[in-house]
Amino acid sequence: MWLQHRELRFSAQGYAKAMQHGATASEISEPLSACIQCGACNLLCPAQIDLLAMIKTCKKEAGLPKIETERFDQDCFTIASHAAIQQNLNADDFYIIDATAFHANYAQRVEYYEALRQATGCSINLDLQRIAIPTGINHDSDTFNSNKQIEWLFQGRVFNRIIVENKKEQRHLALISGKEVIHISELIRGKNA
Ligand code: SF4
Repeated sequence: MWLQHRELRFSAQGYAKAMQHGATASEISEPLSACIQCGACNLLCPAQIDLLAMIKTCKKEAGLPKIETERFDQDCFTIASHAAIQQNLNADDFYIIDATAFHANYAQRVEYYEALRQATGCSINLDLQRIAIPTGINHDSDTFNSNKQIEWLFQGRVFNRIIVENKKEQRHLALISGKEVIHISELIRGKNA
């Protein structure tokens, strides 16, 4: 949101400050509509405030449409952590973690993905603080543009193939990148590996 707007009000910190000073959910509905509910702010909050829960409540109060964030349950992480993933990943692959699922299970999963990156040399959508950069696909609004988000995701990365955990991101990423995009289940089966 910061990259697209360069305004503090378009941030979780901005929401919290506005609410602390008496703003209603309706009054911050414009910046709220830019939030894609990735859950990264919960991990970054120094006071450990459940910002995501606050944001969801505010969105409801402001009458904003509900975002159905698809979270992978343990079965899906079982696919992501299958031994074949590591065997079939290449150093010129870009592996895109489903950010919402990752942030919701951060403590259990961060070490796994870090080890995967180091073992294979692939690029992963983790920033320097080991927070996943979301794609924002399927969450476009007047205040959030997923194409710009993906431009940021691709910035400075060199890759020949994209691997996704979330199947819903596959087609859009293929269109934008012009690269082959495969789902983790295909990687396990050895397709294109
Ligand atoms: S849930 Fe994600 S998009 Fe929304 S405020 Fe938090 S970090 Fe930003």
